[in-house]
Amino acid sequence: MMVLTKKMIEIRTILQTVGQSNALTLPSIVVIGSQSSGKSSVLEAIVGHEFLPKGSNMVTRRPIELTLVNTPDAQAEYGEFPALGLGKITDFSHIQRTLTELNLAVPDSECVSDDPIQLTISSPHVPDLSLIDLPGYIQVVGHDQPAELKQKISDLCDKYIQPPNVILAISAADVDLANSTALRASRRVDPRGERTIGVVTKMDLVDAPRGASILNDRKYPLRLGYVGVVSRVPPQASSLFKRGNGNIATAISKNEHAYFSAHPLEFGPEAGVNVGTTTLRKKLMHVLEQTMAASLQSTGDAIRQELEEATYEFKVQYNDRPLSAESYLAESLDSFKHSFKEFTENFGRPQVRELLKEELDQKVLDLLASRYWNKPVTNLSPPPPEPDSLADLPTADPESLYWHRKLDASTSALTKLGIGRLATTVVANAIQAHVDRLIAQSTFASHPFARQAITDAASGILNERFYSTSDQVENCIKPYKFEIDVEDGEWTRGRESVAGVLKKELKDCEDAVKAVEKNVGGKRKLKDVMGFVDKARNGEVEVVGDGASGAGGFSSDLLQRGKEAVFLRDRAQLLRLRLSALKSPPCNTSHPNANPNAKYACPEIFLDVVSTKLTSTAVLFLNVELLSEFFYQFPRELDVRLGRGLSKEEVERFAKEDPRVRGHLEVIRRKELLQLVLEKMEGLRELNVEERGRRKVE
Ligand code: GDP
Repeated sequence: MMVLTKKMIEIRTILQTVGQSNALTLPSIVVIGSQSSGKSSVLEAIVGHEFLPKGSNMVTRRPIELTLVNTPDAQAEYGEFPALGLGKITDFSHIQRTLTELNLAVPDSECVSDDPIQLTISSPHVPDLSLIDLPGYIQVVGHDQPAELKQKISDLCDKYIQPPNVILAISAADVDLANSTALRASRRVDPRGERTIGVVTKMDLVDAPRGASILNDRKYPLRLGYVGVVSRVPPQASSLFKRGNGNIATAISKNEHAYFSAHPLEFGPEAGVNVGTTTLRKKLMHVLEQTMAASLQSTGDAIRQELEEATYEFKVQYNDRPLSAESYLAESLDSFKHSFKEFTENFGRPQVRELLKEELDQKVLDLLASRYWNKPVTNLSPPPPEPDSLADLPTADPESLYWHRKLDASTSALTKLGIGRLATTVVANAIQAHVDRLIAQSTFASHPFARQAITDAASGILNERFYSTSDQVENCIKPYKFEIDVEDGEWTRGRESVAGVLKKELKDCEDAVKAVEKNVGGKRKLKDVMGFVDKARNGEVEVVGDGASGAGGFSSDLLQRGKEAVFLRDRAQLLRLRLSALKSPPCNTSHPNANPNAKYACPEIFLDVVSTKLTSTAVLFLNVELLSEFFYQFPRELDVRLGRGLSKEEVERFAKEDPRVRGHLEVIRRKELLQLVLEKMEGLRELNVEERGRRKVE
């Protein structure tokens, strides 16, 4: 019963998935022979199909690891390239084309590569066999081939013809066996001829007595013997089968049978020689089965050792901690959701209010600067007269329509700046930034796929909520576009609040001046150039144009810095002036309604009160429409994108993005598979012992 080879091939397939190490290589039959010795024809006769690359230009450049799988209950015959993932290929000319392409992909300069091509052929007509086809030995190097090619091929073959492999040495009958490169190579590694099968092809090309004498060779005795074959497809059958893609084995064996039985004296049962492809197949199966049985012990030992190494690595590197891709993902997701929960507890109305108020403070400052503090230093000519300098404000005529219009325009610029859109953008950006920070601090940081999924989940929800939130907010602040009442308390709080804003702005101006000072190389130098800028603006010195090519002995760059510093100095002066105004009447009133002049004299306070009102109203709706919705939906969206929604392969791919997790998962898988293989091997060993016992009894 030939089950061992089949089982061992199954075991090898498992071992290949854990990255089979050399120690675990199971025996194969390695096919060697000179070019044109008929090597391909023998292999194709065994498989029953033409599938090997053909052509004069050295078409076998890589080893082909050919696994034949007997599928007794199936009809279909097909090949598979496990490394390419092309699926089952039933058209053998397609297999042939693929093999040709794979071989020709090896550059001419290298000519041969030791990277094997794996091919599995399943069919009810093939035996269970594991064969390795190698590039044919060449006698003479072609003019377009590298000189070391001969040696390279020989080295590659030597690598494969080591024990425990069986050597199938192909020689053609019309070439003297003493000149057979295959037999010479086999002799080097198997001097006693214990694991070499000699195949003599093209028996039809020599006369029968000569053929028989070759097979009876005594000069190169082989324990496993010689088999003579005529494995060429008969020409008529060849074209027939090419078209039909049918099995050529019968045609070959009929042809062979016709030839050998025509010479009963030399090849008949009495002659004591082995002939025919069918005989060869049987021999191969038998020999491989025996070799597999003999290697059971050593392969078992090698697997046990690998298992010990994996167990040790698991213990030392991963503390025997169990892990699966699913559990890793689930834990990561849980801990991410937990940190998100913490974030939601610390990011509520007060935080949103602060964010928004800061944003509006900036807008208020911009408005004040452009509408009240306008003293542009854009060129060096004297500035226009400024009747409306803020210095005059406290004493401004309360009845003057000029100041009324100025304040109305400023207020409406604030209320109509698109608060809905602005507020929603600010908060959405803040949430997105917080999510990014949470990702960076989580295990997901090292997982590009998960990072993207989380970012997408967040922006998906935020985008979806954006327009309705922004419309809601805009709607709710609508009343402020028409009228704004200021209560006494609001005025007092506004005064304090805007004083803080101005102080901060003042500090920023002072810091900016210092930065310019540093930039130009000192206080003194800056003072000089600022003095010049001031004089120019007062018309005390004349500057041609705008000083683009320098003036007064200062470079244009320095003049630019000077103008900047003058601007900052003036702004700081103004801010100080306004800060002191805030402390004095009418700004420091606690009853703005009793003093109609107050809001015109102190636009800073009034605009701050407006921005506070806008903020409070916006926050109410942002909280309901955006925050609460986001806090509710986001974890659910995460579950969909990173939990239930992922296939097993995606979870696996995700987990392996992290090299350490990958190592951890792989060692566990390796351990499990090796354990499985070992159990299978133990079973086989018992079976083998029983079988041997049974045979002895018989
Ligand atoms: P490879 O280069 O060793 O793979 O050799 P092939 O199998 O391609 O065969 C080389 C040539 O020998 C081809 O033209 C085959 O048709 C021919 N050939 C192979 N086997 C036989 C055989 O048994 N008898 C005869 N007459 N020709 C054969």
